[in-house]
Amino acid sequence: MTNQATGPACTRCSAPAVVHWTRRLTDDEFSAFVALEQARRDLETALADPQNPPPDFGPLPAEADNVRSVYGCADHAVSLEAASLVHEKTCTAPPCDCAPEPAPEPAPEPDPAPLPPGWTDA
Ligand SMILES: [Zn+2]
Ligand SMILES: [Zn+2]
Repeated sequence: MTNQATGPACTRCSAPAVVHWTRRLTDDEFSAFVALEQARRDLETALADPQNPPPDFGPLPAEADNVRSVYGCADHAVSLEAASLVHEKTCTAPPCDCAPEPAPEPAPEPDPAPLPPGWTDA
């Protein structure tokens, strides 16, 4: 059996990818994604047992919840720092001139609980 492992290919030149990062979905991709999800829900609703309450799917996916992977070979990789950020929807691997979204704010360290009186040096 010749089961050749083919991993993801570089988005620019189709060489084997060594790194990947994420970008937002384009408007077309996002509408296709929502349409697919809606079709899946419609099918599931149609197949659901009418004796039971209709399935509750919750809200449709939002654009902010969805990213696509961009793959880069060694020649078309972004920096490690850039790869940790979400790129613009048009990102196609370097040279990419996106302004990646800022990294999420790190959660602030909680303040330590105050010590009881007499426990501090001051
Ligand atoms: Zn490449
Ligand atoms: Zn980019």
